[in-house]
Amino acid sequence: MLVLGIETTCDETAAAVVRVGADGRGTILSNVVRTQIEDHAPYGGVVPEIAARAHVEVVDRVVAEALRQADTKAGDLDAVAAAGGPGLVGGVLVGLTTAKAMALVLGKPLVAVNHLEAHALTARLTDGVAFPFLLLLVSGGHTQLLAVTGVGAYAKLGTTIDDAIGEAFDKVAKLLGLPYPGGPEVERRAAGGDPRRFAFPRPLQGRPEPDFSLSGLKTAVRIAADGLRDPSGALTEKDIADICASFQAAVADMVADRCRVAIRLFRERHGEPTALVVAGGVGANQTLRAVLQKTAEAVGLPLVVPPPKLCTDNGAMIAWAGAERLGLGLTDALDVAPRARWPLDAAAATIGSGRL
Ligand code: ATP
Ligand code: MG
Ligand code: FE
Repeated sequence: MLVLGIETTCDETAAAVVRVGADGRGTILSNVVRTQIEDHAPYGGVVPEIAARAHVEVVDRVVAEALRQADTKAGDLDAVAAAGGPGLVGGVLVGLTTAKAMALVLGKPLVAVNHLEAHALTARLTDGVAFPFLLLLVSGGHTQLLAVTGVGAYAKLGTTIDDAIGEAFDKVAKLLGLPYPGGPEVERRAAGGDPRRFAFPRPLQGRPEPDFSLSGLKTAVRIAADGLRDPSGALTEKDIADICASFQAAVADMVADRCRVAIRLFRERHGEPTALVVAGGVGANQTLRAVLQKTAEAVGLPLVVPPPKLCTDNGAMIAWAGAERLGLGLTDALDVAPRARWPLDAAAATIGSGRL
C-alpha cells in the first residue's frame, strides 16, 4: 500500500510517500520538507498570513518532488492523506484542498489526519511500537501525556496548564535575543553552558497528576536575564549559554518527574505500557532524550524517540497515520473541513467523517 501524506499546519510545507508492507511495517520512500523559517524569522514567530501564502506557492512542487523521489506515479497511490488540523487554518486549507483535489482526480480515498495523532503514531512507523504505550507529546503547541491504547484511542493523563514546552523554548530564546526558531538554538547555546549556575524552578514537581506549567519557569529566566544585562540590554555569551543550559536542565527534570507520575497512573488505569514514546519537535532535544532514557530505564520501560527529522513536522508522519486509519477503514468525505482546534482525546479524533 502506497500513501501520500501532506503537512501544512504550521510553517513547514511537507509531503512524503510511505509504503506499508504486508507485515504492516512502513517504509519511508520520500520525505520532502520545505521550511518557511526564513520567511518568519524577521518577525520572531510564525505569521499566519505569510504561512498560508507560502504554502500555496510551494505545495504543488513539494508534492511533485515527494512523488519523484519515491519513484511513484500519482496513479500508483492507494490513498492521499493530509493534516486536517489542528493548526493555522489558512495553512491546513492549502494542504487539505490539495489532497482533496488529488483524491478526486485519482479516484482514491482521502484521509484527513489529526496532526497530533500523526506525531503520536510516528514511533509505530520508525520502531513498530505496539499498543498500548505512554506518549509524551512535546511540540510547539502541545504538551501532553497520553495513554495510547489504539489508533484514535487516546486518554489524557496530564497536560500543560499554560504554555507548551516548545513555546517556552521559543520564548526563552526570544528574550535572550536568539534567532527563531528558538528550540534548536537554545540547545546549541546550552551545550557550552553550566546547567547548575541558575537554580530555576521545577514547576508542579511532586504533584500527583502529571500536569505541566511553564510560565513560572519562563518568568524566572526573564528575571535572571534582566539582572545580568549591561546598560545597552546585552548579555554576554557566557551568561546566555549558562541560562540556556540551566533552563534546559529545569525542563528536562520537570519532564522526567511528570513522566514518572504518568507511568504510575498508566499502570493503575491501563496496565503495562510497551514503551515510553516521545513525539513532537521538542523530542529532538538531546538533553531531554538522555534524561528520559534514565527515567525509562529506572522503571523498566524502553524509551522510543523517533529521529529528530521525524519529531519535527513532516509528511511521512501524516502518510503513516493516514495508512493506519485507512487500514481500519477510516476515510473522509471530500467536504471534510479544516480544523483550527482538534483535541486528540476528543471523540472527534476517533471517528473519520466517513467510513469506507
Ligand atoms: P504542534 O505539533 O503542537 O501543532 P508544531 O507543529 O509547531 O506544533 P513541532 O514542529 O512538532 O511543533 O515542533 C516545533 C517546536 O519544537 C518548536 O517550539 C521548537 O522550538 C521546538 N524544538 C525543535 N527542536 C528543538 C530542540 N532541539 N530542543 C528544544 N525544542 C526544540
Ligand atoms: Mg515547525
Ligand atoms: Fe507538529
